[in-house]
Amino acid sequence: MKLDQMIQDYYREMGIAQEVYAYGTQVEETLVSRFRQIDRMAELNQIKVINAMQKARVNAECFHYASGYGYNDFGRDTLEKVYANVFHTEDALVRPQITCGTHALALTLMACLRPGDELLSVAGKPYDTLEEVIGIRPSCGSLAEYGITYSQVDLLEDGSFNFEAIRNAITEKTKLVTIQRSKGYQTRPSFSVEQIGEAIRFVKQVRPEIICMVDNCYGEFVEEKEPSDVGADLVVGSLIKNPGGGLAPIGGYIAGRRNLIEQCAYRLTSPGLGKEVGASLGVMQSFYQGLFLAPTVVAGALKGAVFAANVYERLGYPVIPDGKEERHDIIQAVTLGSAEGVIQFCKGIQAAAPVDSHVAPEPWAMPGYDSEVIMAAGAFVQGSSIELSADGPIKPPYAVYFQGGLTWEHAKFGIMMSLQKLWEAGMVKEFPSLDLK
Ligand SMILES: *Cc1c(COP(=O)(O)O)cnc(C)c1O
Repeated sequence: MKLDQMIQDYYREMGIAQEVYAYGTQVEETLVSRFRQIDRMAELNQIKVINAMQKARVNAECFHYASGYGYNDFGRDTLEKVYANVFHTEDALVRPQITCGTHALALTLMACLRPGDELLSVAGKPYDTLEEVIGIRPSCGSLAEYGITYSQVDLLEDGSFNFEAIRNAITEKTKLVTIQRSKGYQTRPSFSVEQIGEAIRFVKQVRPEIICMVDNCYGEFVEEKEPSDVGADLVVGSLIKNPGGGLAPIGGYIAGRRNLIEQCAYRLTSPGLGKEVGASLGVMQSFYQGLFLAPTVVAGALKGAVFAANVYERLGYPVIPDGKEERHDIIQAVTLGSAEGVIQFCKGIQAAAPVDSHVAPEPWAMPGYDSEVIMAAGAFVQGSSIELSADGPIKPPYAVYFQGGLTWEHAKFGIMMSLQKLWEAGMVKEFPSLDLK
């Protein structure tokens, strides 16, 4: 077909060899029914978001610029209703003043915990940046400095919750239980919403008054339900990941029970002021429009992750999740087995970017990490990981963590470019021929 030939010519002009293109296209053909499922999920979540916007009566006034104290910032207040509708919660706090995911999580913990309380993680070690928030690694202003203790129940070997140990870890002091939905940069599986619901029911059975918080980063709109649909008192995430749809330039959200959201607002601004202040400074249209696009953006990122898993699994590289598994977040890990492999993969992702494609990422000693790390991102929003991005620590097992892609087409191009770089470096020598029944 003429169009096929033209596409192939474009890829060649962009540096993708015929062999790489042919292999990628064959892999894609095996994924038709998988992609169909992802599209159906996007359809469900698209309607969910439109319904949430209609119920909150979103109108053009919501996009107006508000400055100063931000009293009666109509766009901000309405957006918080929209988020509460999407997550089926009583209330939400969605603000550009929440600077990132770590901030949203730290804010929630600091708002809900008091000296003498204990925080319990039932999903093992939390995300790296939370270690200083909690005080696992000593830090100025950590929860530990305020006399808030921390305890942790590790997952069982198969990655499931250790219910017996959770029961034993819950004490009179346990005030809040945290569950991280996504594996982040670990090799455990990510949790399904259903599994999270099971853990929450278990905790509530032991002590109903315990607050259950879910770190929802990278999980939004991957499934038909969110953790708040299965009993979570609070769900927390970043707007430069899934729910910002690539358009939000900053921000974080917390959705949950009204009294807890009020506590978070009092902590974010000030006791007595709470949600009443905090001007939205003109970012509202990008927040609304980003949320509107988020279900299809997440679908594109998911297709990219599934494609990458299948491309690399067939070449013999270990991948988590594997090519067939159900997805609970948008992260894909590929173990390349050598420093050179990680570097070439990241160079490929960078070379396929719409921004900064001419720079080559190099490993560097990032603060807080015990090895060099390489990062690839050519993003419109700095550090945005709903945009196509990859990073990997330069240490065994030499795995790269890859996520995002605002469109499936870009994700596909980026993954083929990563493979092209591995091929040029002589690390991939031949492509398996696929049995396309
Ligand atoms: C990204 C992420 C965070 C932290 O978010 P930042 O915006 O990078 O601060 C926390 N938890 C998980 C699971 C994440 O993926």
